[in-house]
Amino acid sequence: KAKKAARSKAGASYDIALLNTDKGVMTRFPPEPSGYLHIGHAKAALLNDYFAHEKYNGTMLLRFDDTNPSKEKEEYHDAILEDLALMGIKPDKVSYSSDYFQLLHDYCIQMIKDGNAYADDTDKETMAHERMHGIPSKRRDASVEDNLKHFEEMKSGSEEGQKWCIRAKISPDDKNKAMRDPVIYRCQQIPHPRTGTTWKVYPTYDFTCPILDSVEGISHALRTIEYRDRNPQYEWMLNALKLRNVQIWDFARMNFVRTLLSKRKLTKLVDSGAVWGWDDPRFPTIRGIRRRGMTIPALREFILKQGPSRNIINLDWTIFWSTNKKHIDPVSARHTAILKEGLVKATVKGAPAPYVEDRPKHNKNPEVGTKKVAFSDSIILEQEDAKSFKQDEEITLMAWGNAYVRKIEKSGDVVTHLELELHLEGDVKKTDKKVTWLSTEAQQLVPVELVGFDHLLTKDSLQEEDNFEDFLNPKTEWREDALADGNVASLKQGEIIQFERKTYYRCDRPFADDGKPAVFFEIPTGKTAK
Ligand code: ATP
Ligand code: MG
Ligand code: MG
Repeated sequence: KAKKAARSKAGASYDIALLNTDKGVMTRFPPEPSGYLHIGHAKAALLNDYFAHEKYNGTMLLRFDDTNPSKEKEEYHDAILEDLALMGIKPDKVSYSSDYFQLLHDYCIQMIKDGNAYADDTDKETMAHERMHGIPSKRRDASVEDNLKHFEEMKSGSEEGQKWCIRAKISPDDKNKAMRDPVIYRCQQIPHPRTGTTWKVYPTYDFTCPILDSVEGISHALRTIEYRDRNPQYEWMLNALKLRNVQIWDFARMNFVRTLLSKRKLTKLVDSGAVWGWDDPRFPTIRGIRRRGMTIPALREFILKQGPSRNIINLDWTIFWSTNKKHIDPVSARHTAILKEGLVKATVKGAPAPYVEDRPKHNKNPEVGTKKVAFSDSIILEQEDAKSFKQDEEITLMAWGNAYVRKIEKSGDVVTHLELELHLEGDVKKTDKKVTWLSTEAQQLVPVELVGFDHLLTKDSLQEEDNFEDFLNPKTEWREDALADGNVASLKQGEIIQFERKTYYRCDRPFADDGKPAVFFEIPTGKTAK
């Protein structure tokens, strides 16, 4: 219920609408199960969900566009279902393009019989050349009988059949190249995950999509803007088959700087071992950004704000992460971590015997709860802070109070030990330095590893001719060891916290007391574009 309220709150500020909704709204999200969902898909899925479930009282279909058996896997199918659920998207119905292979086949026959399609065995290069220059295929005016015969040959999977494809007979030379007799059926020998070896021919996306949108009752087909040239072709198919028309609503493709958003390229990175897997925190997949610390409400807000824009821009990551920061800052618990490298021990004069006290995890939000803070005369601080101290300077030990720096022991430039003297009457507002510290007594310090990441690419936007492998960033990961307060031992995987005076982190590996540190991934905040 709370989720629904939060959702409609997010939706209310985005006034994006569909045309002509009197006959009801049914949208569809049609992923090809050939990879894990990335943030581009998240945009498509969230927009479909928004119109169907938030803006209008409609329904949303999830259609697995599984018409190309060479790229599809069961693993991807399951992951897509899980990732949609993760985003809070519940399709009202799930279907598969492959459920309709017989129907699509029959429509192809009808197209041929009506003289709206023909069989072609022109080789790939020649066909591309002819399409480019508006030259009709030599098979364009073959008889219906010949065309049907070749389609049968294709269906048999014979060597001869495999040379052919079926093309819609729209125009050889329309100024819109998408209208130049697109291929509607092609041969594929690989077994299909759902229909096995039943079929040796498969419909193309250009043929499948308009037909299924129409027969499955879709009212509005949301498509990325780069399909715009193909919109007339979509309508042509429906008219040729006398099927109900569907309204097309274009939206901008979402691209990000220094980021690959193509399942094909992401697959290559996974297969080559360049990343840990589809959920790598450097990956723009739903799993990747989530593991990096993106929250779903923030993702939703970010995407719906982009909603009506039709400009294809290369988005910067800063707004993405600063939107997230707005969501996590008010609710994430504050903890302390001290870097191990150069760690400085200090004795605190005037400290009472070791004890613990309950303190709020978040100073402005009591709902976040309380944590145990340990106090004693033996504490640790970070080298960088210690280095900045001057003799007899008054500093503030955060969440404790002021202290004088009475003794600074050094070895060369490096501070090796400090002696502090508590001065709790001192005004914390008047000190320049407020430092994090941890008592080494009255708590068990937790070894943690803090991990920061950078983009996988070195170039902001790859051009068509660029080979992405030439722009892979050689170093994308940094690790630092630290000690954290005892409360950190009970943090769970996925919990988002702030290490004070550092930044926000997501717990990737909880503390298990197995000799290995707990692992925390740095969450970008939009301050740097990483
Ligand atoms: P990819 O190139 O990553 O394989 P795709 O478009 O081929 O992307 P599909 O699985 O066919 O992947 O896409 C499902 C839906 O997601 C389509 O409606 C598609 O338009 C949309 N989509 C894919 N990438 C983006 C993106 N970068 N921005 C917005 N929508 C996208
Ligand atoms: Mg696709
Ligand atoms: Mg693609």
